[in-house]
Amino acid sequence: MDFLLHTRPCFLSVCAAFLVPFSPFFLTAWRSIVMASESSAAQIPADFDVDEVVLDNDGFGWVKRVDARKPERELEQLIHDVVVVAGVPLVIENWHLREDFPKEMLSMQYLKNNLGDMKIPIRDMDRENVVDQTMSMSDYLSMIPTLAAENADLSNASRRRLYAKDLTCPDEWRDSVASLLPDSLVYLGSNDFMSKLPPSAQAENIMLYIGHEGTYTTAHRDMCAAVGHNLMVHTDPNSSSLWFMTSTHSHLAVKEKFPDIDLELHWATIDEWAELSENAKVYMCEQKEGDLMLVPTWAAHQVWNRGSATVKVSWNRVTADSLTRAVKAALPAYKAVCHAEEYKIKSILHATINNLTLDPPHMSVQQITNLQTLFPVFTDVLTEEYLPDTSQVKRCEEKFRYSVRCSYCSCDIWNRFLTCTDCEGDPYDVCIECYARGRSCAHISGLKWMEQWDWEKLCALWMRARQIFNNVSEEDRRVETWDEQLHSRKTMAMVCEEENGQRPRNLENPRKTTRRCHPCKNTHEDANKQVTCARCDKIFCMSFLMWNMEMDPSLVLAGIWGRWECPACYGDCKCAVCLAKPREENSHRRLGDVPRPGTSPLAGTLSGWTSVNTRAYRDQRSRNYYFKVVKPRGRPKKKSTVTPSRKGRMDDVEEALIGQSEPPGPPSKRARQTVPDAELDLLPQGPEAAEMQPPLNTQRDVRPVFGNGANGDSRSTMSQGQAQESSPEIPDLPREIFFYSEGIVARENGNGVTHYPTHRAHLEIFRRGQMRSNFTSTVPERDELERLLRVYELLGNTEGQRIVKERLAERHIQLNLLAEAEELSADLLSVREQETVAKEAEKLAESYPNVTKKNFSSNMLANSRW
Ligand SMILES: [Zn+2]
Ligand SMILES: [Zn+2]
Ligand SMILES: [Zn+2]
Ligand SMILES: [Zn+2]
Ligand SMILES: [Zn+2]
Repeated sequence: MDFLLHTRPCFLSVCAAFLVPFSPFFLTAWRSIVMASESSAAQIPADFDVDEVVLDNDGFGWVKRVDARKPERELEQLIHDVVVVAGVPLVIENWHLREDFPKEMLSMQYLKNNLGDMKIPIRDMDRENVVDQTMSMSDYLSMIPTLAAENADLSNASRRRLYAKDLTCPDEWRDSVASLLPDSLVYLGSNDFMSKLPPSAQAENIMLYIGHEGTYTTAHRDMCAAVGHNLMVHTDPNSSSLWFMTSTHSHLAVKEKFPDIDLELHWATIDEWAELSENAKVYMCEQKEGDLMLVPTWAAHQVWNRGSATVKVSWNRVTADSLTRAVKAALPAYKAVCHAEEYKIKSILHATINNLTLDPPHMSVQQITNLQTLFPVFTDVLTEEYLPDTSQVKRCEEKFRYSVRCSYCSCDIWNRFLTCTDCEGDPYDVCIECYARGRSCAHISGLKWMEQWDWEKLCALWMRARQIFNNVSEEDRRVETWDEQLHSRKTMAMVCEEENGQRPRNLENPRKTTRRCHPCKNTHEDANKQVTCARCDKIFCMSFLMWNMEMDPSLVLAGIWGRWECPACYGDCKCAVCLAKPREENSHRRLGDVPRPGTSPLAGTLSGWTSVNTRAYRDQRSRNYYFKVVKPRGRPKKKSTVTPSRKGRMDDVEEALIGQSEPPGPPSKRARQTVPDAELDLLPQGPEAAEMQPPLNTQRDVRPVFGNGANGDSRSTMSQGQAQESSPEIPDLPREIFFYSEGIVARENGNGVTHYPTHRAHLEIFRRGQMRSNFTSTVPERDELERLLRVYELLGNTEGQRIVKERLAERHIQLNLLAEAEELSADLLSVREQETVAKEAEKLAESYPNVTKKNFSSNMLANSRW
């Protein structure tokens, strides 16, 4: 069997480092740089005393241990009580002491003898531009003692940390482990709902890890909130893995302490865990041979390998609990930030419900419990897809089932979606959540409805499940009709249907409006981008609602039913005028604490996600209807019939909008000092990158990229009127206007213009940790790297250039283009370049005194989260 890198259960592995720098997008590359910088900071001394940490800190505790030789029923009960109900990690120890433990099979010797020739990817934890290499299994295994010895001394500058992680688990190992464990824990066993999908649709997520002292896995949560398992099948003497863990229920504290936990870039230090432990219990565990770690759903964890060889098998399971959490929390979050989903969560839910209702008279207690948990979730998912009139909905060919993905957010599409028949190339498919949020291709409307399952059959399944559910549920939980689900607001599909008919196709013939928007005082060109308050008649645009109010456009639209009440009526309008009013005048006194309509958790809310930068969509034809960008100067003016392939991502500011984390309202001092996160998303891609490359040493060519200022008409402060010149339409809802030109990012906020050197802008973005990525596993192409390099050159970012050049040089070597590689290497060493880096570091050091030159030029983020 092949030791190839696979789709992995948790993000970390999905974005397995060596793939990351090769991903096609600019952000991804930045991300890999962050990853490298942060990774190299990770260290725990070999003589670190865990007992002392646990003893000295009240917030720390040991993970509870239980012996694997206990009767299976007892074990299963304990797992249920501790891991499922309490959401607390658990270790089942001494598997290796059981008589049925396949010692010979699960050994290093077996790997050497039977799989020694296999090529395995090796992750170098210290390489700045994280690259994986491959070597044979036997070579790697024989290196381990040396590697471990090198890492025993942290001061050893030449120590190497090579981690064989995310290896495909050999089939025979998978079977051995499965035969050892209780059925409820087995990968793709009866209690892993992934097994309900057809094999071709399943994501493979059982992996093998071989590590030594100094290798590690950064803090993360497992993909789609799945339950984690990690069995240490073999260790050398005095070797172990150190685990830092939290419980399911402390996810809020975790999110607060590590806002970017899902980026899986950050090695949290002991101090950081100690800080977290003030609000959430931190569970420590020294995982030794025969220890099976059970990681509850949505619980954060981080692992450090100690001593010589540690060999672990790790897998994830999708359970009723994890499925619920995935649909309600993980999926909306992934959609908000365009994070690939990998697991096909809704399909798993559908398949599981189907499976549970096959034979009602013979359902086990476990199955009944599962149905009780999952039926309401399934109801919600199905309800969102409800359309009163389905005559326009076409059925997909069955062969495409399980393979439709949203072109915008990259999440899987289970059943209904919209597709554009006018886009060139592959069909442009968009999920209902995205479309309702303003996301689509450049054609914007007139999309066609598609579905993958027979709606009648889905309804029949729902009714079958409902009958069982009602039979086994308390009276007050029983569900009678669809109406109950539908009366509170429109479904997402209904929102899409309406918007699909209303939004101006290709932006032609917008519905004109003459009234000014309450918060931004603009007269928006298109009335579809705004909503009117049913109480006070004020007009609000979606841009303001989403960005400044954290209100999800899809929920605003879903909640309307002809009667939407504005933030001003609720007394929490964050526009400059309302904020300036004395508190007593705020109208919420009238309304009291009226719950805001249309806040179903299912549809996904932006709350909490407005503070993180999202990354770009994968499909370059994407754009967002609600937010528009002024096209850069110098490009030929285009009519609104846009050639999708040339749109690039200049059009999409939504990502940037979400990325704004500063508090809305009048610009504060802090606000003026921050720099747009938007910038990365505004960088041109493809042909535009070349097109936009300005001649060197031209006069400062400040061009508006987008605006969002609430402080009066920001157009008047825009020097030289370039905005109008470059685009026929002023961007919606300017609050502050960002300019971007080579080497300069500027911000106009009505009180004047502030300029920032670009590198500092990027560092600011790094500092705020607002990189998001799609976790694609795209293999690199030279032209992508070259394009990236041009972008860095455009920005005058030498650090970025250097790193990409290194990558490119390596790629050239791989492709046997030695002359090119040599040229690049010479370039890399050029004195001039080094001088530039030193200069930038100096400038930076002035602004951020606690950042040293050294850690800017070699390691931008290591040790410092200033
Ligand atoms: Zn989507
Ligand atoms: Zn289209
Ligand atoms: Zn109102
Ligand atoms: Zn507006
Ligand atoms: Zn207001």
